[in-house]
Amino acid sequence: SPIDWNAVAADLAPIECLADRASLRAKSRDFFWYSPVLNEKLKGVSAELVVCPANEAELIRTLAYCHERRIPVTPRGGGTGNYGQAMPLRGGIVLDLLKLDRFLWLKDGVARVEAGLKLIDLERHSLPQGWELRFHPSTRRTATIGGFIAGGSGGVGSVQFGGLRARGNVLGLRLVTMEAEPQALELRGEEVMPAVHAYGTNGVIVELEMPLARSWPWREIIVSFPDIGGAAAFGNALCEADGIVRKLVTVCDWQSAQYFRPLLSHLKSGQAIALCVVADPSLEAFETLSTAMGGTIVFQRDAAEADDIPPLYEFTWNHTTLWALKADRSITYLQCLFDGPDYLDKIARAVATFGVETPMHLEFTRLNGRVAAFGLQLVRYRNEARLYEIIHWLEANGCPVADPHTYILEDGGMKTVDEAQLAFKRRTDPLGLLNPGKMKAWSPACS
Ligand code: FAD
Repeated sequence: SPIDWNAVAADLAPIECLADRASLRAKSRDFFWYSPVLNEKLKGVSAELVVCPANEAELIRTLAYCHERRIPVTPRGGGTGNYGQAMPLRGGIVLDLLKLDRFLWLKDGVARVEAGLKLIDLERHSLPQGWELRFHPSTRRTATIGGFIAGGSGGVGSVQFGGLRARGNVLGLRLVTMEAEPQALELRGEEVMPAVHAYGTNGVIVELEMPLARSWPWREIIVSFPDIGGAAAFGNALCEADGIVRKLVTVCDWQSAQYFRPLLSHLKSGQAIALCVVADPSLEAFETLSTAMGGTIVFQRDAAEADDIPPLYEFTWNHTTLWALKADRSITYLQCLFDGPDYLDKIARAVATFGVETPMHLEFTRLNGRVAAFGLQLVRYRNEARLYEIIHWLEANGCPVADPHTYILEDGGMKTVDEAQLAFKRRTDPLGLLNPGKMKAWSPACS
């Protein structure tokens, strides 16, 4: 028989529930519309009820209740994911975790926090003590730490520390299972991996233990280059310059940079740019390197300085696409990896092959101890067939694509079924009620 959602809300009281249309719509969506493919598929998705537990006890009560009635539950943090990760494909309940926002402790460079804490608020606590996140997504001001661990991959700082799945970047987590009697599991070290980038399909993360980095006084710098090849070569050289402390190395050709409206008065029309964040003491060495490589510094600011230009990181990672989308809703993007000893050649080949159809945007990163670059190229979208033609060309030319046009976990970055993740789900969500529809390998018959 159909579920009476008013009765569900009454049963769960005093846990806060939202059932008004505006809240249901807002909390059922993320940034899925970056992708025209996902936009078509997911625009009608909606939950029936939003439940906002204020602590672990309320969360456990909600999960036990939903388990008993077989109600699907989709966890949600800031709702800034790009692939519909936090969208309730089978309806049911969206579990809004924003009230689990306590900063628990900080000791010897390790922070223990609740999962719904926003990244910016985490650093509000840690920075006065001289510590910051090792890396953060460019959505630092809106995303939660739990959503980042469950749905993200890397970001500002990955040029030094790699991504979320690099060993040691998440020390521990506390996760609640979806069972008749939900359990709170404490996972440490390698045990955390099945829950990292699992889209909340195998447990609700309630606490995280994160290793931090010593904070620096940072400088934001933009260097201009005549072409994308020069800017990419500079990006590589900067990442190989071991004496320069850097937190962000982003390269955009003019086709992508032209959308950075607040920066335009500083940029040279037609030129490629490198957007960099480096530690203050590294500034002289940075200037020497950029001059030697034919660059011209066109913008420089103390990162702590507030003016009417947003933080430089809000022009990088997936924010680059957002600036383009603000100007032209037909644009979308890709996520590919340029790595290996010839990765700069791969970039050059992709640029030569697709030109202005895929304006180039590179995020330099550290990957398994080496320098590599993620290509977050913009795409002037024509249709799905052409999009996949470009994706197939990249893959055939040694540039694996983490498809941002699918909500299926395995079809995104991983490509293969993660057996550990699947085995973990059998244990933590035997009925398959958590964020259903996202994990391809899952079918209730597996339980
Ligand atoms: P949500 O979108 O709310 O959730 C993400 C996923 O995690 C969902 O599957 C959800 O079900 C699950 N989830 C949320 N909380 C929990 C929990 N406590 N327990 C279990 N599962 C949970 N990503 C990057 O990696 N790097 C970037 O630099 C980056 N830049 C971005 C820029 C823009 C403009 C946008 C729109 C997105 C960007 N993203 C980036 C994607 C996204 O912002 C990040 O991954 C972000 O950290 C997600 O956090 P959130 O709190 O918004 O998570």
